[in-house]
Amino acid sequence: MKCIFCQITAHKIPADVIFENERLMVVYDINPKAKSHLLIFPKAHLSDSIDDLKDEKILEEVFAVARQLAKQYGIHKTGYRIITNHGKDAGQTVSHLHFHLLGGERLSD
Ligand code: 5GP
Ligand code: ZN
Repeated sequence: MKCIFCQITAHKIPADVIFENERLMVVYDINPKAKSHLLIFPKAHLSDSIDDLKDEKILEEVFAVARQLAKQYGIHKTGYRIITNHGKDAGQTVSHLHFHLLGGERLSD
């Protein structure tokens, strides 16, 4: 199993797990690009990111969890950004669909 996020999901490599259910994991990004930087990802391995998505229902849950965590981390009033990178031009480095939840400070444009 080479995929980092699949290894995190299987608890084979350590990560600060913030939230977990049958479908989703949320961990702190190992190299935070903002004061608050969480990674939300489906447990199912979707290697080609958004292109691999078969059931878009998971996106509802990703956004619901993101909204809940933004409240929990107190960034819902100051603002936050949810992004997913797809492919090389977007700078995707981990080939397993994931969403960044960034906030806690003024983010660059
Ligand atoms: P991408 O660039 O593919 O959109 O985002 C991948 C993110 O995963 C990066 O922000 C990177 O810091 C993070 N990352 C890479 N390896 C690990 C790891 O082993 N643990 C955690 N928690 N985050 C990781
Ligand atoms: Zn994976």
